[in-house]
Amino acid sequence: MTAHAPQSVFQALDKTGTGVVPVQDIVGRLNLAGFKSDDPRLAGTLDQLYGLGDLVNPDEFENLTYPGHSLIERIVKEELVIPQFGEFTERFQEIYDVTAANKGGRVASYIPQLARVDPDQFGVAVCTIDGQRAVIGDTDIPFTFQSSSKPFLYSAALENLGEERVHRHVGREPSGQTFNELTLNKIGLPHNPMINAGAIMSASLILPNLPMAERFEAFTKLLTRISGGRRPGFNNAIYHSERETADRNFALAHYMREVGAFPEETDIFKTLDFYFAVCSIETTARDMATAAATFANGGVVPQTGTRVFRNDTVKNCLSMMYSCGMYDYSGEFAFRVGIPAKSSVSGVIMAVIPNVMGMAIWSPRIDETGNSVRAVEFLERVVATFNFHNYDSLVETRKIDPRRRRQTTDLNATFSAIHAASTGDIDSLQRLVAYGHSLDCEDYDGRTPLHLAAAEGHANVVKYLCSQGVAYKPEDRWGNTPLDDAVRHEHASVIELLSGGEGCSDLCCQAAE
Ligand code: GLU
Repeated sequence: MTAHAPQSVFQALDKTGTGVVPVQDIVGRLNLAGFKSDDPRLAGTLDQLYGLGDLVNPDEFENLTYPGHSLIERIVKEELVIPQFGEFTERFQEIYDVTAANKGGRVASYIPQLARVDPDQFGVAVCTIDGQRAVIGDTDIPFTFQSSSKPFLYSAALENLGEERVHRHVGREPSGQTFNELTLNKIGLPHNPMINAGAIMSASLILPNLPMAERFEAFTKLLTRISGGRRPGFNNAIYHSERETADRNFALAHYMREVGAFPEETDIFKTLDFYFAVCSIETTARDMATAAATFANGGVVPQTGTRVFRNDTVKNCLSMMYSCGMYDYSGEFAFRVGIPAKSSVSGVIMAVIPNVMGMAIWSPRIDETGNSVRAVEFLERVVATFNFHNYDSLVETRKIDPRRRRQTTDLNATFSAIHAASTGDIDSLQRLVAYGHSLDCEDYDGRTPLHLAAAEGHANVVKYLCSQGVAYKPEDRWGNTPLDDAVRHEHASVIELLSGGEGCSDLCCQAAE
């Protein structure tokens, strides 16, 4: 199918109305929106663009081929899941810079190869469900999957056998014990697939009748597809070290075989070998973020559109990650950060914001529970800045009075908007708009996003809300307007914007009409 770029998009790009647009402007817009030149959707489009020389005219633009041009269209129409990706990335950079000061924790030392890793390395990679990507720091340095392979092993087992058969052999409850504890649940099964016993069980369920080389090759291919086509590496030294120091994993496998937890005819030695090999596969933060985005995207790789996992596989896996993915810190992490994540002793946390994006945060120093100290802090800061905690949308739900609500009928959106405005999270507001929600909404007390942004002094959010045409002087139940709030909290820039003074933007003034 050949689709063509619509002329209305060209007109939006041609800001000066000269009838031509510089190629560099279009490429710059793509880069700013987080689309990298190695994105397979852009390969043909970039070649076409560069082949045109410096300027593009409307006919040439119309002939840009699918799917690259549709990305340009979605940028122009602000339809991407993170519309202002540049600002979003800046916030991530700020969080990265602050978190980098944390030197707490120690690198894992149970095998020498992990103990020798440079502890100061720190990489953060993000990939949205639209395939917008940002990388900060050490995102191309390989590290081994270790425990972060567990969601992939579990998902592969689910794809092979289905939920019912997989859960004949593994439970779904947090264990309340350390990840490699020699313990099974009341019916003699591993507690869940995110601890060692459960992951060894998952390994036993993946193509058990094939030779080891075929099993490993199939699993590597799966990781390649889920990472957007980038083949992972393998660390042979770590594999041998893992195998030589694996008394506990051998003990777990023997215990599970003794109580009949495995499917009949399981060869535990082959199973363990497969598990050690999988733990020793190498990836990078960049590639793991794409894999995380595939989970966020319901099992479809954002850049290639390839479905790797069924929706129900992803749903099950994210549920397990949410309740059990962070070792003994899982409950606390679900409470404080509130997103599905999987941690590993190599210092990575793979985190998933369903329907928005995936992240990989890697820094080798870990705490006593096995989680990367910087990665945990980074994620805590991210949810304090953005609206990503699973239950952020419920903030102030008890205050709802449907009689007083303005245009929006979506309660979650209302409270997401109010929360985002109060934290200065302009990206979430833009996302709500992209999804068709109105920002002209209020809570039980008549407090609007504009009240909250004004009270907290977020001038950029105030400007943005006004540009969206929200009511300019709404009164809350105490009769206060956003300007009153700004005055009370002495936010000069907001006062200036809202009182129509010197700095009042045209947009604010128009919205005031
Ligand atoms: N290979 C490690 C083991 O099985 C995984 C450790 C981890 O990342 O939790 O003990």
